[in-house]
Amino acid sequence: MRVRAFFCFLLTALFLLLPKLEVHASHTLNYFNMSSVEEDGEEIFRIEVGMSGKNLDYETVVKPYLKSRLVVKMKDTEPGKLDRNISSKNPMVSKIKVQEVGDRLTQVAVELNEDLTEDRYRVYTKERDKKAKKPYRVIIDIKKPKPKKEEAAMPGIKGRAIVIDPGHGGSDSGAVGPSGARECDVTLAVSKKLQEILTANGARVRMTRETDKDVYGWKSTAGQELRARVNIGNFAPETDIFVSVHCNAFTNPASHGMETYYYASSAKGRKLATVINEELAEAGGLYNRGVKTANFFVIKHSKMPATLLELAFITNPKEEALLTDEDYQNKLAAAIAKGIERYFTE
Ligand SMILES: [Zn+2]
Repeated sequence: MRVRAFFCFLLTALFLLLPKLEVHASHTLNYFNMSSVEEDGEEIFRIEVGMSGKNLDYETVVKPYLKSRLVVKMKDTEPGKLDRNISSKNPMVSKIKVQEVGDRLTQVAVELNEDLTEDRYRVYTKERDKKAKKPYRVIIDIKKPKPKKEEAAMPGIKGRAIVIDPGHGGSDSGAVGPSGARECDVTLAVSKKLQEILTANGARVRMTRETDKDVYGWKSTAGQELRARVNIGNFAPETDIFVSVHCNAFTNPASHGMETYYYASSAKGRKLATVINEELAEAGGLYNRGVKTANFFVIKHSKMPATLLELAFITNPKEEALLTDEDYQNKLAAAIAKGIERYFTE
C-alpha cells in the first residue's frame, strides 16, 4: 500500500509540474456561407462559419425565454473580416449577427422569425474540404418545421370527463394473434393515442391502466379485475362516459370485422356505441358487424353511458397486421375521438 501511495504522489506531482498545454488552437473567422439543402426529405437552411485552425470549442445556447434566437459561442476565436450583420432571404431566418462578446470569444447569433424547438436545429463541426474550398467550420442547420397536421378541433370534448379502459393487461394478455400480437398491447396503444387526442382537446381523461398491468392486482380474478376498472369510473361521479377498448378473437382465423357494444337498457350507451361504430367503420374500413347489446361486466356495471369496442379480430392474420400498425392505430384512435365528439354534440 505504501508503495502505491508513493507512486500516486509522484504522478500527481509530475502532473502539476507539467506546463499547461494550450489545447485549442486560436481561430480567426474567415469563411461564411448560407445555403438551402435537402437531407432525408427535409428542407434545411445551413449556415457555415469557417475559420483558421481546427478543434473549435463551442457552445450552443437557446434561452427558454428567447427561443427565436440561436447563439453559438466560439471560444478562442476572433471575428476577423467577417461581416458583423448578415441579412438572410430565407423565410425562417431574419439575420445573423457576428459579435465579439469577450476576450477571444465570438458568438454567431441567428435571429429567427419564429421560436425554435430542439428537434429543429443541429450545430456541429466539419473538417476542411479542399475540393469545395471550405475550411474547418462550424455548421448550423435549421430545419424547416413540418406542416402541422390538419386536425379538426373538437370543441364538444372540452371539459368532459372520460374513462378509457384498455382491455386486459398484466397477467392477462387477452387474445393472441397468429403472429404473436397480444390484445393487451394493441388496446393500450390505441387507448394512449385516444387519450392524447382527447386531452389535446381539453377533456379530462382517466385511464384504467397506462402500463402493462392488472388494474386490481397481479393475478387478480376476472371479477376483481373488471370491478376495479368499473370503479375508476363509478367512484368519480363526474365521469361522463366509459369507453372500453378490445380486440375480437375466434377459433376460426377467417372471422373478421369490427363491432361495438352497449348495455341494452342504456339509451345513451346505445348512442355512444352507434356514433363510434360509424366512425370506426369509415376510418378503419373493416367489415362492420354492427352495434350490439351484451352483458359485458364493464358496460353493465358502469353508472355512466358506456361502450365496449371490438376494433377487429386479432386472430385474423390480416386484421392482426392492421392492429399492430401504428398508422392504423392512429386512424382508429382519431375515429373513436370523433365518435366521442359526436356523442357530446349531436
Ligand atoms: Zn378483450
